[in-house]
Amino acid sequence: MKVINPATEEVIKELQEDTKETIDQKYQLLKKGQLQWAKQPVEKRVQCIQHFYDLLDQEKDELAKILTSEVGKPLQESYNELNGARGRMKYFIDNAVKWLSEEWMVTEGATREKIVYEPLGIIANISAWNYPYLVGVNVFIPALIGGNGVLYKPSEYSSLTGLAIQRLLYKAGVPENVFQSVLGKGNVGEHLLNLPLDGYFFTGSYRTGKYIAEKVASKLVPIGLELGGKDPLYVADDVIDIDQVAGAALEGVVYNNGQSCCSVERIYVHEKVYDRFVKSYVEQAKKMKVGDPMAKDTQIGPLSRKEQQQFLLDQVKDAKDKGATVLLGGNAVGNKGYFIEPTVLINVNHDMRVMKEESFGPVTGIQKVKDDNEALALMQDTEYGLTAAVYSKSFERAEALMQQMNTGTVYWNCCDRVSGALPWSGRKHSGLGSTLSYQGIRAFVQPKSYHIRG
Ligand code: NAD
Repeated sequence: MKVINPATEEVIKELQEDTKETIDQKYQLLKKGQLQWAKQPVEKRVQCIQHFYDLLDQEKDELAKILTSEVGKPLQESYNELNGARGRMKYFIDNAVKWLSEEWMVTEGATREKIVYEPLGIIANISAWNYPYLVGVNVFIPALIGGNGVLYKPSEYSSLTGLAIQRLLYKAGVPENVFQSVLGKGNVGEHLLNLPLDGYFFTGSYRTGKYIAEKVASKLVPIGLELGGKDPLYVADDVIDIDQVAGAALEGVVYNNGQSCCSVERIYVHEKVYDRFVKSYVEQAKKMKVGDPMAKDTQIGPLSRKEQQQFLLDQVKDAKDKGATVLLGGNAVGNKGYFIEPTVLINVNHDMRVMKEESFGPVTGIQKVKDDNEALALMQDTEYGLTAAVYSKSFERAEALMQQMNTGTVYWNCCDRVSGALPWSGRKHSGLGSTLSYQGIRAFVQPKSYHIRG
């Protein structure tokens, strides 16, 4: 398997893909190790994770370079990702013991009752490339702390980072027979679905997530799905600082080269502030520096996957054919690397692909609305349900909209953010189950009820 730098199209490394045989061997190894791991006190497992947390900081320069070289995100954003992953881990480190300790429910009378939280066993963590540290940490950290063995399949587009994660976990004290990575593309991941694993935790597209959920459904084991989004942002007419709001929306669109599950994917603006918002947004977007992701001043690097460039150009063409106006961008950049200009479309509507299907790039449509009701109806007009953002001076006004949104997360005067303390969950085609927060700790254990008499 070739690892390609998306900025230069050069082959950085060739890796050996796993096979059915090597995956079977890894599974057998974990079967032995997991039982020992589960017997350790939770504090001991948290200690290993604390070491891993420290190592991510100690080795951040090398790790950030590896990440940028294989996925193309600007180097500073690779540092930010490492830092963000540590922030999430801190929540787990500080809170896992509390949420995994046994709980006494009845302590008096003839029969005492308690709940004990036991690991699921050996789980698959099938992961995406866009934030390999962040989305990985959501799963393998609480899974390991909970006493599980993990078969970790990094995306084929972030395998070097997957290997770095494995190396550092071992260095931190996680035994090799508790954590094993599986390298390869979808066909390799498929082998995991045939093993008798005790849980399947997937981050990636709706299409693959649905396929995996259907394929493993009859095993009746826990399934967690963190899938895509088409996240809306609404700007009400009472916002005070339109330039600041336009800047925040732009960052929500283009951060990570637009390849975040909770990227702002479509913007609705009240007609009274629409012209000012669009002008400010375009002015700020024009100044964004597209280029070498290793350069300090680069804000937008290449897309991670070659085919994504054409996919976005097709979305733009579809919108233009149906009457949209391209105010900025709309083209590939240069002839080496998978770059695309930050792109702004107006005169858009929901017949256009760009307003309905996940773009996953620095491309957005801005649509004018006459009031909050029209904004709400358009925001809800989607198969996805990950996040929605409302910018308004008034919390009451924003809250009325947020309460009606069928999404796992809502934002008032902010967007495109995730917190370790809050559940991260998608509704509809955006996913199933929650990671992060105490719910994301409990997602990797199962309760056992004790009735104790005598
Ligand atoms: P993808 O679905 O193409 O691949 C995800 C993983 O599944 C990869 O490791 C891939 O090799 C593996 N895979 C593919 N086919 C498989 C099969 N048949 N059996 C087993 N494994 C298989 O997704 P992607 O392109 O890596 O990620 C981008 C998507 O992920 C976007 O839709 C994005 O919104 C979503 N995402 C969601 C979240 C979230 O938290 N909700 C976070 C990050 C990314």
